[in-house]
Amino acid sequence: MKQLINFTRIFKTLSLSFVLASGVALADSPADKYPESVLYTKPVQISENVWSAIGATQYYSYENGGHNNNLTFIIGDSAVLVVNGGSSYQLAEALHQEIKKHTPLPVKYVVDENGQSHAILGNGYWKAQGAEIIAHEEALEEIEEQGLQGLETLDGILKERAKGTTLVSIDQTFDEKMALDLGGISVELIRFGPAHSLGDISVYVPSENVLIAGDMAFQQRLLPVFPDTDTAEWLETWHNEFAPFAAGKIIIPGHGEATDFETVDKWTRGYLEYVRAKVAVLLEEGGSLEDAYQIDQSPYAHLDTFEQLAAKNAGRIFEAMEFE
Ligand SMILES: [Zn+2]
Repeated sequence: MKQLINFTRIFKTLSLSFVLASGVALADSPADKYPESVLYTKPVQISENVWSAIGATQYYSYENGGHNNNLTFIIGDSAVLVVNGGSSYQLAEALHQEIKKHTPLPVKYVVDENGQSHAILGNGYWKAQGAEIIAHEEALEEIEEQGLQGLETLDGILKERAKGTTLVSIDQTFDEKMALDLGGISVELIRFGPAHSLGDISVYVPSENVLIAGDMAFQQRLLPVFPDTDTAEWLETWHNEFAPFAAGKIIIPGHGEATDFETVDKWTRGYLEYVRAKVAVLLEEGGSLEDAYQIDQSPYAHLDTFEQLAAKNAGRIFEAMEFE
């Protein structure tokens, strides 16, 4: 019997390695939904004055132009605010072309949801247009540590589509909250607490009941657990701060289409609690990291980026929960 179990485990390990090794090849890029533009999709209207260009729910690719997160803009009476600088100079420029179709007003602020490449690498374009770049103070740490590496990686993927992209400094940071006025519309930048990466923030537009959640919230693709993601803290932030605030609002997640709170709750909190419960059982039974990679995550298997992330996520949660 013991031999049989071991054999099964070895077989599973082998098939897992195969999936991990071929993960990139398996991750097919769906056809660009907006071929006329570097953007993956054309911005859609979320509320009266809020528009969002919903990014691909896959990894960065040449085909999606690095547009794999949501790039949102809010139009006030005197100025425009953009959420996320985008992955590249050209992507930012393409978003600006779309904004100009709706308003001649200047983009006064660009708010980065965190310090990740697809939030910050297009900032150079916006700075050149005179916009002020704002991020959470913790995002600066990530930019200092990972910014150049991220630029190099994107350069390799986007090739000539990365032309003009540079790493520029953030103009202003905040800690807990910051209020901005676009003329007739006020916007609140909110730090709910630790989530998926350093410096995650959300942007709230009270007059439109829209919460641009950033990478606090996911749907349609699997969320990533990074080596420094603390899922216990992410859940604490979710239960204590994010959920009470976000309930009843229109949510633009960091990844996936705009939706309601219940939907992002299901695919974000629901997933984190699901994997953590499985890992807790494994730890109780004296299971190993190898076992964590095999955890059954089939309820989430239909989500994009599942092949690349599921086993990795479980492994990282296992390694963290050993010490919780
Ligand atoms: Zn993201």
